[in-house]
Amino acid sequence: MTSPLYAQVALDVPLFTALSYRVPDHLRDDIALGQLVQVPFRNRSKTGLITDLTSELDDPALAPKIRDLYDLVDAEPLLSTNDLKFLSFVADYYLSPIGEVVRLAIPSAVRVEGIKHYRRLPDDQRPASATPLPLDLADALASLSSEEPSPVASLREAYPDLTYHRLSELERRGLVEVTYQESGSLKPKTERYFKLLPRPRGTLTGRLGSNQLKILKLLDGMPSLSLPEIREHIPSPYSSLSALEDRGLITSWEEEVYRDPFENAPVEAPPEFDLTERQLHAVNAVAEARNAGRFEGFVLHGVTGSGKTETYVRIIRDTLAEGRRALVLLPEIALTPQFVGVFRSHFGERIAVLHSGLTPAQKFDQWRQIRRDEVDIVIGARSALFAPINNLGVIVVDEEHDSSFKQEEGTRYNARDMALVRAKLASAQVILGSATPILESFHNAQLGRLTYLPMPERVAARAMPPVDIVDMRRGPHNPTAGPSNLLSARLLSELDNTLHDQKQAILFLNRRGFSPCVLCESCGHIFECPNCDVSLTYHRRMEALRCHHCDFSLRMPESCPQCQHTGIERKGVGTEQLENHLHELYPRARVARLDRDTGAGPRLQQLLSSFRRREIDILVGTQMVTKGHDFPDVTLVGVVLADMSLNFPDFRAAERTFQLLTQVAGRAGRADSPGKVIIQTYTPDHYSLLTAQNHDFSTFAQHELAQRQAMGYPPFGHLIALKFEGTHEGATVQATRDYATAARRLLRSDRTFGDNIAMLGPAMAPIGRINNRSRWQLLLKASDRALLRRFAIRTLELAKHFEAGQPQHRNVRIIIDVDPLNML
Ligand code: ADP
Ligand code: ZN
Repeated sequence: MTSPLYAQVALDVPLFTALSYRVPDHLRDDIALGQLVQVPFRNRSKTGLITDLTSELDDPALAPKIRDLYDLVDAEPLLSTNDLKFLSFVADYYLSPIGEVVRLAIPSAVRVEGIKHYRRLPDDQRPASATPLPLDLADALASLSSEEPSPVASLREAYPDLTYHRLSELERRGLVEVTYQESGSLKPKTERYFKLLPRPRGTLTGRLGSNQLKILKLLDGMPSLSLPEIREHIPSPYSSLSALEDRGLITSWEEEVYRDPFENAPVEAPPEFDLTERQLHAVNAVAEARNAGRFEGFVLHGVTGSGKTETYVRIIRDTLAEGRRALVLLPEIALTPQFVGVFRSHFGERIAVLHSGLTPAQKFDQWRQIRRDEVDIVIGARSALFAPINNLGVIVVDEEHDSSFKQEEGTRYNARDMALVRAKLASAQVILGSATPILESFHNAQLGRLTYLPMPERVAARAMPPVDIVDMRRGPHNPTAGPSNLLSARLLSELDNTLHDQKQAILFLNRRGFSPCVLCESCGHIFECPNCDVSLTYHRRMEALRCHHCDFSLRMPESCPQCQHTGIERKGVGTEQLENHLHELYPRARVARLDRDTGAGPRLQQLLSSFRRREIDILVGTQMVTKGHDFPDVTLVGVVLADMSLNFPDFRAAERTFQLLTQVAGRAGRADSPGKVIIQTYTPDHYSLLTAQNHDFSTFAQHELAQRQAMGYPPFGHLIALKFEGTHEGATVQATRDYATAARRLLRSDRTFGDNIAMLGPAMAPIGRINNRSRWQLLLKASDRALLRRFAIRTLELAKHFEAGQPQHRNVRIIIDVDPLNML
């Protein structure tokens, strides 16, 4: 008897470890790491992924309880061994269930509904082959239907000889059509294609209709045309096509087409620049690591307009020339369509794009194109980190400081940090690019863990824009009064100049809506969200009060619900009001607004491209306007209220403010016309503002790093937040306290922990309630990351123990946030 074989299978269930299953004998030869399999779970069958194969169990006593796995979904592993290593690392690092992490790497189409189906292709659609098929394969092929796609399991039931190996081989040879499907699931999109058949002499009998003749002419000299392509010329070709096909003049077949996710056309091919010295240095530094075949991480610290994008392009081109592939991570693709446009102009169609705006069908298509090695470059938002890219040579993380790289639900990973891990496993290089690297990256560069590549100047000797700080404390300004006090004389006169010169301006105000606060002028009642601890924002276009944290909204009331008084006051100014105000001030200027309320998708693209085409003079917006846009005619950037982000209860507030100001300032003067930046503030002496004014990252970093060091905050200390959320306030508080008690016990009983780990809390989160869930937290802090992780795990285990006597814990959700970014 052979020794048993066990598979560790990651299931999409909240378990921290993969589950063990026995591999039945008939599957032993076919089983492999990274395969999708069907397994029994409770009393159902579930799809999971094999993360490990062993001949022994960790706990041999369990052997009699281990069940057999049912079957393979596909013999072809879905993920490579390296991918699996990576996923296990992520699960470990973020203390997240492996099944949940695996889910990140596999699109839902494959994961849940997608059982592999096979269909035999008709003879005329198979590639011609010189050598006849081996007998076993011919048999296998013959057992498949050419009509209905069949799932593997039922095929194997009917034909035990139909091994996975044979099916894979048929697939490899292009003899079968493969689809992933089950009732109602996503199917690859197909299109009907037509081509001319070679016409034996004298076979043409009968006359052809004019449409038929047109079709023949159209197809002549073409390898094939799809139905939509034919319809472009002949509006309703159906009957003619089938008549031609009946006469044996043409043939048709279904072929898979990929749903095109590009809303953006490629931009015009840019001229070939001579690289600047700094760009060249960066390209060469990366080449050196690549040639040595070694992992290396680089911080490309380039001021706005220093030519980072061009640098990425060259690095990627070199990487592709070596036969390796590239991954580019961007914060928000929708906001920077021209970035993808630049890449398309350089690299054409061999790019896949993955982002949250895609439909599941588009994602599925892109994912499969990547897995089939049909593309060389994957561009995407954070989730693209998990794209199944073979032979990965380089990862670029553009705008690496952006907080959208951190996922704030499920597995709370940070794609920037994990990009370094993935690259290391692949001996690839990573480029972290930003005008404002986060202090963690900068500090690691100072320590020599990452290689620092500075690009302190803009290309073509363009100047950094001068930045003026306007002290709003002087003069009759009252920020809560209304829009007329919101724009200083200085900013208004610069706006005048910009309009006069027919240039464009961006005004940045980090608050959407019309007024962020609405109250009764008689009794002072403030309109608050019934579900969240925040005040409601007045939105004028909808004439409603809305919560920005849940989807609560209320028609703007006419009177106070508390005292029936009809005088309701709106305090403060948001982007909607600012836009209105500018319309009134400049009736002839074209003013538009960009924020979360002005639409996504095509409307967003329209807005951006009309600003680019100079159909808008002044663009008002939230931080969406600060992202890496490149609008050549923007010469003025106004920051309406710089203090907003400083007032956040978060140790990163100063850094965020510096980043925002530097980024938004960088939108000015990017082409030949010099730019100008005006920052309005009530705290003109704050170092974030002063250093941003002077484009002085290093002074800012020095100052901020000293403070972080004194407080033991990142990058000097590491954090794990335990967040507690529950519908019942009392139970939530109790759970937080119980965990705190467990942690405190550990700190007291174990000196290694006690001397090195600090616990902050229990504390209510700065926003104590969102969507009717109370929010409490514990913050664990230590300079030794491994120790902190061990401590968190021990605390969770310990707390679980007395959870048994605390049934109310069951209704409290415990979120483990490693390296938390969002402190609200
Ligand atoms: P960043 O990404 O650093 O903000 P970009 O890569 O967008 O900067 O470059 C800014 C502008 O300079 C772009 O219009 C780009 O085409 C141009 N550019 C880049 N590199 C060069 C170069 N070596 N010589 C001239 N122009 C360049
Ligand atoms: Zn709310």
